[in-house]
Formats: sequence, C-alpha cells, structure tokens
Amino acid sequence: NPFSHHKTGKEGYAHIRDPSEDFYLRRMYGRIVDCWNRPICSAPDAWFDVMERKRTKEPSGQDVAEITCTGASTRCLNLASYNYLGFAASDPYCTPRVIDTIGQLGVSSSSPRILGGTTVAHTELEELVAEYLGVESAITYGMGFATNSSTIPALVGKGCLIMSDSLNHSSIVAGARQSGAKIKVFRHNDAKHLDALLRQSIVEGQPRSHRPWKKVLVIVEGVYSMEGETCNLKEVVEVSKRHKAYIYLDEAHSIGALGPTGRGCCEHWGVDPRDIDIMMGTFTKSFGSCGGYIAGKKPVIDFLRRHSPAHLYACAMAPGCVKQVTAALQVVMGLDGTGRGAAKVRELHDNANYVRARLLEMGLEVLGSWDSPVMPIMTYSPAKMVALSRMLLERRMAMVIVGFPATPLLLTRSRICISAAHSRADMDWALEQLEEMAELCDLRFNNTRLKAH
Ligand code: PMP
Repeated sequence: NPFSHHKTGKEGYAHIRDPSEDFYLRRMYGRIVDCWNRPICSAPDAWFDVMERKRTKEPSGQDVAEITCTGASTRCLNLASYNYLGFAASDPYCTPRVIDTIGQLGVSSSSPRILGGTTVAHTELEELVAEYLGVESAITYGMGFATNSSTIPALVGKGCLIMSDSLNHSSIVAGARQSGAKIKVFRHNDAKHLDALLRQSIVEGQPRSHRPWKKVLVIVEGVYSMEGETCNLKEVVEVSKRHKAYIYLDEAHSIGALGPTGRGCCEHWGVDPRDIDIMMGTFTKSFGSCGGYIAGKKPVIDFLRRHSPAHLYACAMAPGCVKQVTAALQVVMGLDGTGRGAAKVRELHDNANYVRARLLEMGLEVLGSWDSPVMPIMTYSPAKMVALSRMLLERRMAMVIVGFPATPLLLTRSRICISAAHSRADMDWALEQLEEMAELCDLRFNNTRLKAH
C-alpha cells in the first residue's frame, strides 16, 4: 500500500498492519473515499471556478463519484489550496517578471541542471534562498516530492539509521524506503519517544565513528499537513544533538508561513537555522510556484549537486517558476521596497488565528497550532466528512476532505487552509457556512483540551 507508512515501523496510525484490514476497508469505503480523497482543486485565487460533481455507474454496477472542474460559471471560496501568502494569484511585482523571464528563457529548461538546464535565474534563486534561510548554500529541484524522495537516498543508505516522525509525508516515506537505511518511526511530534528510540539504537555519548550506524538522520516536518501542527523543533534539535544525529527538516508547509518574517519553523521557535543539517522546502505553497529546495552547509549542497539523482537526471525547474519564487521571496524579504511582504505574513497569522479561534468557539474539534494555516476539523465519520464538504460546495465554499488511506478511517477529517489573500468578509462568510453545516452534521464537541492547546 503506497499510502501506509514505513514498512518496518510499528508506531503511528498511518500503518496498515493487516493486509486483510486494508482489503475490507477498501471494499467498504475505498472507492468513494479514494475518489473524494483527491485534492479537489488547487486553483490560485481566493475564489475559483466551482466544480461539478457527477455520480456515474461503472459497467460493473459500482457507484463512483466523479469530480471535474468546469468553466467559469460560478465562483467558489477556496479554502482548499496551499496558497498561504496569496502569491498563486497574479501579483503586481511577480507576474510581469515571470512573463519577462518566459519571454527570454522559454517555458521549460528542457534539460537537467548539469546538462545546460542551469540559467542565471536558477543561480540567483539559490543564492536568495540561502540568504533568506540564513545558511551557506541551497540547491533547487523541479519538484518538491522528488526533492525528498531523491535527496534522502543520496544522503543515507545501507548501514544508516533514519528516525522518522510517524506522520511524515509520503515523499519522505518514499525516500526513506528507497535509501535502504534502517527506518525507525517515532510517535508523532514526540521528542521523548524519539529520545527513547535513539537510546535503544545507540549508546549515548558514543562517538559517531564507534556506532553501529554510519549516520543517523532524524526527519521531521515544520507543519504537518494533515494535522496542522507545528513541529516541537527545539526538543527535536536538543535530542538529536545529544545523540549526535543529523536533522532533516521538511518545511513544505512552514516556509513563508511560520515565523514573524516567514522564515519557517526555526524562526517560529527561535532555533538557529545552522543547527538544522538539511533544510528542505517546496515552492508550491507559500510562493505560488513549483519545485523544491535543500539548503544547508556548502559541502552538503555541493555533495548533492554531484550525487542527487533529481539534480543529475531530471529536468531543472522551469525558468518562469524560478522567477516566480525569486520575485515572491524578494517581496517577502522587503527587497521590492514596499514592505507588503511582511504585511502578508502578518495577515496570514492574523487570519489563521482568527479562524482557528472562531472554530474552537463554535465547539468544533480543530487540530493544529496557533499561526498554522492548516486547520483539520475532525468529523470522525467518513459519511459526515463527505456530507460536510458537499453541502459546503453547494454553498460555494471548497475544502479538502482527508479520509482513509491518508488517515485511519475513524480519524477522518475535513480540512481548510487559510491564506493571507482571504479577506475578513470571506472568512466571516465561510465561518457562517461552516457553523450551519457543522450543526447539521452534529460536529460540535465541548473540547476543553483543544481550547487550552
Ligand atoms: N513535503 C510535504 C510535507 C508535503 O506536504 C508535500 C506536498 N504537499 C511535499 C513534500 C511535496 O511537495 P510538492 O507538492 O511541491 O511536490
């Protein structure tokens, strides 16, 4: 099952231990949940064209839900995409620069970086990413998923140990499995469990050269996309350093979104970015583009330039996408001279905290941390999850449903993502719709634990 977590891990509910369990769950719910589980649309704007849903009968007689995007007849409030800073829509600073770059360099790089795919735009972006993150060097890749799935096997292999959070993204799982390293899975965001597993695996204080493992790599995410939770980075860094393990931080959902200037999880928790050995991120969320990066010490980045398959054998980031990220970063860093980048990050936090507080007040069970733009609302029942999102879509509000196999069946949820591009009126309207529909679906809980969180 490509969606379950590490083959060898024992912790975390993403594991499906018994194949027959998988088979029966799929038979019962799989078809519908699989269809509905697809991200329904990731259109760029705060509002986007509504989707049409049809129910059709397959020749076998099975009922299948079909989701298709249609023309521009009706608009839908988009709470389904990762457009955290609003850069995915046309931007007065970014868009003309992107168009210019496409005019000069074309739409595709048409070759890997080392075979002529490197342009001045790529070099400029890599320098800017390193400067933004406060590290020595950075390398970019054509795809965020491939950044993880190809960098991890380039860094560790047989004889190495990977300590992976149980809710790490599928691209990390793919890279970890492919690496051939031994994988141990620690309980989600639980630094104590990480510590305990590391103690079992290595003798504390033992020099790296005397260990049973060539390298030990701890892999975590800045914000977990199905939980909306920020990583307990301070504790993870403390434990990893004590055990002399390397740290790999995936900032796909935290770069641009966390920290007062959007510099991610390190800035949010006051951790020195130089304490993170491998900083990974994607350009598909906060920067409204495509691609991914790895940033860190220069020797590590130079090593990846020579050994990472996605750098050597896959097409480089498209020039227009490169320019989109460079321009968006310039705005966020205040290099466009307007100061609106800092305002965007502030707006994202204000919006996210406003919506989170209101959802909790309504008595909904919302997962995640303050400042995080990702807000899963627990429905527990797959039927309620589907009903909620359908009824909201009929009211022209789009959200994402997160069911099996992305989560266990009984931890089904619906998820909204907040953007700096949402206005207060958008959010108030969405909250009104959500409150009515949540009442109909009987989703209110009196959850003091989450309120305290
Ligand atoms: N890492 C994480 C944590 C993700 O959530 C994602 C995708 N959402 C990726 C990596 C892959 O990034 P991309 O979609 O840019 O390929």
